[in-house]
Amino acid sequence: MALAGEFDIIARYFAPLAAGHAGAFGLSDDAAVVRPAEGCEIVVTNDALVEGVHYLGGDPPGDIARKALRVNLSDLAAMGAVPRFYNLALALSPAVDEDWLAGFAAGLGEDQGRYGLCLIGGDTVSTPGPVMIAITAMGEVPAGRALRRGGARDGDRIFVSGTIGDAGAGLGILAGKIAVGDADRARLVERYRVPSPRTALGPALVGLAHAAIDVSDGLLADLAHICEVSGRGATIEAAAMPVSETVGRCTGYGLADALSAGDDYELLFTVPRDRADEVHALADRVGVPVAEIGGIEPERGVRLVGKDGDLVEIERTGFRHF
Ligand code: ADP
Ligand code: MG
Repeated sequence: MALAGEFDIIARYFAPLAAGHAGAFGLSDDAAVVRPAEGCEIVVTNDALVEGVHYLGGDPPGDIARKALRVNLSDLAAMGAVPRFYNLALALSPAVDEDWLAGFAAGLGEDQGRYGLCLIGGDTVSTPGPVMIAITAMGEVPAGRALRRGGARDGDRIFVSGTIGDAGAGLGILAGKIAVGDADRARLVERYRVPSPRTALGPALVGLAHAAIDVSDGLLADLAHICEVSGRGATIEAAAMPVSETVGRCTGYGLADALSAGDDYELLFTVPRDRADEVHALADRVGVPVAEIGGIEPERGVRLVGKDGDLVEIERTGFRHF
């Protein structure tokens, strides 16, 4: 690569990001040492981004870094884990220069502060192909209490955080398929480029939620995952869906699109009916809006009740009509 050598890159850009954890040894040893807090265990997840697939080569490197980290933090949140550490594997192409690396490391540094975690190791290689960024994130959860997809029970109420479909609209705007005003455009594209993982909400749901997942494939698909693993079904209400006013102003993008679009990184979770009231108090406490969208039932499959009260037919990968 047209860059300083591997060891210079590590020392210059990445070792400073590892200063917060003694067991990272300043990235000067073969591996790092971690220990969970007393009574906790470590939740581990990995997500990779590929240039040209998950982001575009010309995107700001700081945004790419934050997205690479945040998609992992969303998985930790879905498990109820508090972020602690991450590893970074980078395959750098000849197109990567010092400016790109500096912007990339700055993006990571900013998010380390925001989310309270620390780089502890990784690998740096060169590739003739597109850049690849793989992050392994580690978080802490009280032992045996991690939130799982399979815990939904009959009568559970279903909740989702934030708003649904913003990122999908952002992607549609970038692809030239959706028309919208300039201010809305900026907001939606930002939601697509840099997600906001619900790292405060996830751990707060430990001991309350029966099941949880982060919305990365689209609300309908991810609810279907919860239902399948839990051996249950669900009915949700179109009128209760938290769709932003911004998305409402998009031409060529409706509720059906919002519910089957990916990349929102909101949390979708179920709570026993008699504790549903606690969710709203908790949402206020962590400062994340949460909407109650339906309930878990014995009958398998996901059913959507339209705004007119009639059932809407849902195909596995999206909608037939709306
Ligand atoms: P080895 O060849 O023994 O596996 P490396 O030379 O790949 O070791 O890495 C040396 C040290 O630098 C290790 O502690 C490794 O975790 C760290 N490291 C390498 N690349 C990165 C990176 N991109 N981010 C963070 N740490 C890294
Ligand atoms: Mg080694």
